[in-house]
Amino acid sequence: FRNRARSLAELVAASARHGDRDYIVTEDRRISFRRHADQVAALATALREEYGVGRGDRVAIAAANAPEWILAFWAAMSVGAVAVGCNAWWSARELDHGVRLTEPSLIVADTKRAALLTGSPVPLLPLEQVDELAQRYAGAPMPAVDVAEDDPAIILFTSGTSGRPKGAVHSHRNVCSVIEYHRMNDALAAAHGDPIDPRDRRYLLALPLFHIACLHNLAVPRLATGSTVVMHQGSFDVDRVLRLVARERVTNWGAVPTQAHRILEHGDISQYDLSSLTTFSLASAPSSAAFKQRLRERLPVAERSLVDSYGMTETCTALTAASPADLAEAPETLGRPIAGVQLEIRDPFGNALPDGQEGEVCVRSAYNMLGYWNDPRATADAIRADRWLHTGDIGVIEHGRLRLSARRSDLIIRGGENVYPAEVEGVLAEHPDVQECAVLGVSHPDLGQEVFAVVVIAPGSVLTEQQLHDYARERLAHFKVPSRWRITQEPLPRNATGKVVRTEVRPTA
Ligand code: ATP
Ligand code: MG
Repeated sequence: FRNRARSLAELVAASARHGDRDYIVTEDRRISFRRHADQVAALATALREEYGVGRGDRVAIAAANAPEWILAFWAAMSVGAVAVGCNAWWSARELDHGVRLTEPSLIVADTKRAALLTGSPVPLLPLEQVDELAQRYAGAPMPAVDVAEDDPAIILFTSGTSGRPKGAVHSHRNVCSVIEYHRMNDALAAAHGDPIDPRDRRYLLALPLFHIACLHNLAVPRLATGSTVVMHQGSFDVDRVLRLVARERVTNWGAVPTQAHRILEHGDISQYDLSSLTTFSLASAPSSAAFKQRLRERLPVAERSLVDSYGMTETCTALTAASPADLAEAPETLGRPIAGVQLEIRDPFGNALPDGQEGEVCVRSAYNMLGYWNDPRATADAIRADRWLHTGDIGVIEHGRLRLSARRSDLIIRGGENVYPAEVEGVLAEHPDVQECAVLGVSHPDLGQEVFAVVVIAPGSVLTEQQLHDYARERLAHFKVPSRWRITQEPLPRNATGKVVRTEVRPTA
């Protein structure tokens, strides 16, 4: 076994060496590395024999979290195919778009997603039949495939926060580089006296598998390092998750802020033994310093080890991570670049800016995607001639640490003045009657844009527009104070990553 795998197919073939250790544990199942590798070999053979899937073909997976999702993923890798992770939250229309864009030769779908695909001409393998199909080919050896390091391996879709989701293409080299990063981290932790053998680490998987933070940080590297994923299935249920964490002695937990929010809202978590947890990391969406502080007060593991990390579908893994020490010094920071990531802040002409000046976050690393599938325009916009990826996020580096101020597409320019939605949202959210809010720019004939706020107030509250205006005016410069408001008790629409879908909260008139 080579120290560095050159393809994901090579990796899965080598994974049987982890033997009887747990690879995937769910509430009611336990799958060892050996059993998993046998099943992958069988299913891969079935994909080739029964569906003619081969190198470069796409296999779409449209399903909620299940061990069979991971099995289908590795089986696709094992015949040199490209796995397409469809968002399980998509409507029929969105799913249709994902399928048309990537033209798979097979779709593996669970019952719910299959019902959305009735008109599709693409052959469909029901997720519920995956085990049975693998059973029919039990004993088949792992197919021999010839894949190149720069072949596409995975297509994952961006969350669609700023428009239609785009299919980010990750090569075998990209993902194997991420694995190397995890291996290096494990080795460094051991060298620094971490008492837990990296193979004994148990990672909670309670994010959707089609999301980058889940697939590339959980399911894939665990197969390489021989550690365990403890998978929560179904919608995020705090009691069930905590019970699983306690029962399976989970060590690492990565959550999106909406999930962390749910934990805070939960009445009593002290009944669960969460002493096995060593790290709790936030990722994928903004969370305020005040929110992080509340989390530290409620969740002992957060008090010891809360981390925030920033990344995007296009970069395969985190770009920066803020350690507890970083957050203690600079509560709004997203931390420093992780190993292998080069970061620059650039002006609109592509020139690098000095520390302290705000501009677009640009990044170069071996983890960066090849491009967007079937979308040369968006690809050229994101990856420029010098191979640097333009993230579309506006930020600043202070004392070697990154702070994000807005997305390029969310920045409001009102009469020539920049207004950062997050700053205004932060101020409004401090009002005791405000549960959540979203601030966005809407067009204005003279000013170009004006500031619009949707404010979700607590049940029973009688907060008025005038009161909110006065509250904001006392705390913000006049040009940042929203001039249009919508007060509601309906929660804000959020996508699978917990980000507010701004296109759905825009005023209609
Ligand atoms: P789309 O690209 O389709 O508009 P998206 O950018 O939300 O959707 P993702 O790739 O899932 O899709 O999310 C990446 C983005 O999420 C980053 O560019 C950044 O704006 C935001 N983000 C990620 N992590 C953090 C974090 N820890 N704090 C604040 N924002 C974050
Ligand atoms: Mg994006």
